[in-house]
Amino acid sequence: MSLFQSVEMAPRDPILGLNEQFNADTNPQKVNLGVGVYYDDNGKLPLLECVQKAEKQMMEAPKARGYLPIDGIAAYDQAVRGLVFGADSEPVKSNRVATVQALGGTGGLKIGADFLHLVSPKSKVLISDPSWENHRALFSQAGFTVEAYPYYSAAKRGVDFDGMLTALNLAPEGTIVVLHACCHNPTGYDITPAQWDQVIAAVKSRKLVPFLDMAYQGFGQGIAEDGAVIGKFVASGQDFFVSTSFSKSFSLYGERVGALSVVCKDKDEAGRVLSQLKIMIRTNYSNPPTHGATVVTTVLTTPELRALWEKELAGMRVRIKQMREALVRKLKAAGVKEDMSFISQQIGMFSYSGLTKDQMVRLRSEFGVYGTDTGRMCVAALNSKNIDHVCASVAKVLS
Ligand code: PMP
Repeated sequence: MSLFQSVEMAPRDPILGLNEQFNADTNPQKVNLGVGVYYDDNGKLPLLECVQKAEKQMMEAPKARGYLPIDGIAAYDQAVRGLVFGADSEPVKSNRVATVQALGGTGGLKIGADFLHLVSPKSKVLISDPSWENHRALFSQAGFTVEAYPYYSAAKRGVDFDGMLTALNLAPEGTIVVLHACCHNPTGYDITPAQWDQVIAAVKSRKLVPFLDMAYQGFGQGIAEDGAVIGKFVASGQDFFVSTSFSKSFSLYGERVGALSVVCKDKDEAGRVLSQLKIMIRTNYSNPPTHGATVVTTVLTTPELRALWEKELAGMRVRIKQMREALVRKLKAAGVKEDMSFISQQIGMFSYSGLTKDQMVRLRSEFGVYGTDTGRMCVAALNSKNIDHVCASVAKVLS
């Protein structure tokens, strides 16, 4: 009998499966709004100018590629801390933030999940309902039982904040709560600063463990605005986790550049936490790769490149907002009777369109417009050339 005889075929990843279907579609007007990737107005994946300039500098002074330290490039970890917490912030100055370079935001989440399972194996994990698909899988794979707190209310077309808060207030001590720092994926609905204060108070009083997933800093309102929640958590005096991703904000998806930061009580605790995070890394992939993190470090620490990055990131953010507004306008012009103005209130890359699974299937099969079955569409993949087709198609399935 073969070792693999009883191995079952795993289900296809819902988003990547959609990509395969899209690639096989022969419809010349097809539009892929499934995967969470930002494309420019020509439908192209951008290669940021700040990245090209940093790479040019790197090529002009080529370096040999030795192994990196287990926790990555020290200057990178420092730059991440500066961006996420502020270089002059109290926790950074007190050396009580343990930061490690990670393989994208996913890598940061995974290192954090493995570490948490080491220190608190019996804890439950709470994720938002709905959430990025990989949250559940990733924390389950790390050995946790994963449940969800209410988040999206279709009836309210927004956040079921009372439901969320009630669930947090009922959670047993030590429960790990995964929170989207900004630009909630998949709904596009964030909670307000005043609601964050309530969440932070509940998490603190129930002694829960907050894990902030920050995959879209700069895609919502701005770098500082999107990161403001971090300062609120620091001010509340709790220990917490933050995963960072530069996949979208630097358009460096394939380089796998991210980080995990753990805010600890003091420097001594941060040192001990860091030593354990390094074991998680060492026993998984030993140490991270050099290229992407060197690019990001160069950009973040060179004032001129940093300014260019902020400008380019703002350009992406503004274009997404313009697409949201155009979508609302053009859906109306295409004959959609429903009030679709909620699309411009949502934030980040995605829009929960409110379309049903059947309508999403029709959009794909009849019009070549690909979003997820949950009705999620990536607004960051719309452009001046494909938006009319998308609006006409949505109008037809809604009529
Ligand atoms: N968290 C969320 C909420 C995301 O949407 C994503 C990317 N889709 C990630 C984490 C993972 O980011 P990365 O590609 O950098 O691993």
